[in-house]
Amino acid sequence: MTDFTRTRAFFHLPENLIYMDGNSLGPLPRRDMERLSCTVEKEWGEMLIRAWNRAGWMELPDCVGDRIAGLIGAPKGSVAVGETLSIKVYQALSAALSLRPERKVILSDSGNFPSDLYIAQGLIDMLGRGHQLKIVRPEEVAEEIDAIGEDLAALLLTEVDYRTGRRHDMAALTQRAHRKGALAIWDLAHSAGALPVDVTTAEADFAVGCTYKYLNGGPGAPAFIHVAERHIRHISPALQGWLGHADPFAFESDYRPAEGIARMRVGTPPILQLAALDAALEIWEEVDIHKLRARAIALSELFIARVEARCPMLALASPREPEERGSQVSFRFKEGYAAMQAIIDRGVIGDFRAPDIMRFGITPLYLDEADMEKAARIIADVMNNRLWDAPEYRARAPVT
Ligand SMILES: *Cc1c(COP(=O)(O)O)cnc(C)c1O
Repeated sequence: MTDFTRTRAFFHLPENLIYMDGNSLGPLPRRDMERLSCTVEKEWGEMLIRAWNRAGWMELPDCVGDRIAGLIGAPKGSVAVGETLSIKVYQALSAALSLRPERKVILSDSGNFPSDLYIAQGLIDMLGRGHQLKIVRPEEVAEEIDAIGEDLAALLLTEVDYRTGRRHDMAALTQRAHRKGALAIWDLAHSAGALPVDVTTAEADFAVGCTYKYLNGGPGAPAFIHVAERHIRHISPALQGWLGHADPFAFESDYRPAEGIARMRVGTPPILQLAALDAALEIWEEVDIHKLRARAIALSELFIARVEARCPMLALASPREPEERGSQVSFRFKEGYAAMQAIIDRGVIGDFRAPDIMRFGITPLYLDEADMEKAARIIADVMNNRLWDAPEYRARAPVT
């Protein structure tokens, strides 16, 4: 059983603050402080370069990869960790295109995160082989798979929309793509640690994601890539770094890919970030993800009900049906940026996504019913008294 009063104590959270932005940057797990000071002082400080062997630094990406595998329904040894999510999208997409060399279309949707789309465009330009990125509305993806048919190389989708929280049916769309002989790449940035994910049952060919959101790995924490076992030996990696080589310390002049998922490694792993992430992932040993999901839905329903009852000017941007949402609730409001700044000023942290989306992450590891009630009261105060209508709330910061 998961005791959510216990999990709250796992995090360092500032007092008098309701943190509803764990979908963008998870809070600091208390155990990270001890782990990081050990990694810095004892390992880096005392062992110096010997720590690569003595402190298990070289194996750390694999250990972390296996922890993440457990959270996304992937077998051990099928997840590589490192770099950022944008790079992992590049690795997955380039691999998928090379597995389907005759096909030219990549299908994505307008709800996808810009970086995923930019990476796809950049890769197409670099390949110069006439690939096309087709972007349709999320609700049109299924039909479009059938319409493109035999020319579809890969589906490139984010399961949960970063703006609205709308959730795709990963298994159904993957199956549909497979029927046309195409591959499916799923971005789990807003899924891993937010809801039950099973890439094996869904038969996803590739899955990628970041770890600084719901997995609480800290700012700039490394990303992950999962490759289905049926594909891994057929992949010639686009980024052929020395640590993805079969024998890095042979220092051969020619690249030979490592066996298995290790070929998706590129360069030197970020040890401090991995140590922080590894400690943060220990928390999940005590969490039943199905219970977490049920609780996230209950909290979201409460939050939506309270906000809607008091704030008629806020339009729900997330699907009303809980099963069609990820773990965030978004509202549309024309002056959403200013409104969010005023809300943050009063102790409820959410964020804003252009053009008009106010996002609130619902993370049961450290949020409860009392937080939902209090947050809704603060939001209602700001909205009904137009407290956002002040010049200082309109000045845009670089990060929104
Ligand atoms: C957060 C997010 C990213 C960010 O990519 P980075 O390379 O880690 O900065 C990319 N894609 C999606 C879908 C995201 O939600």
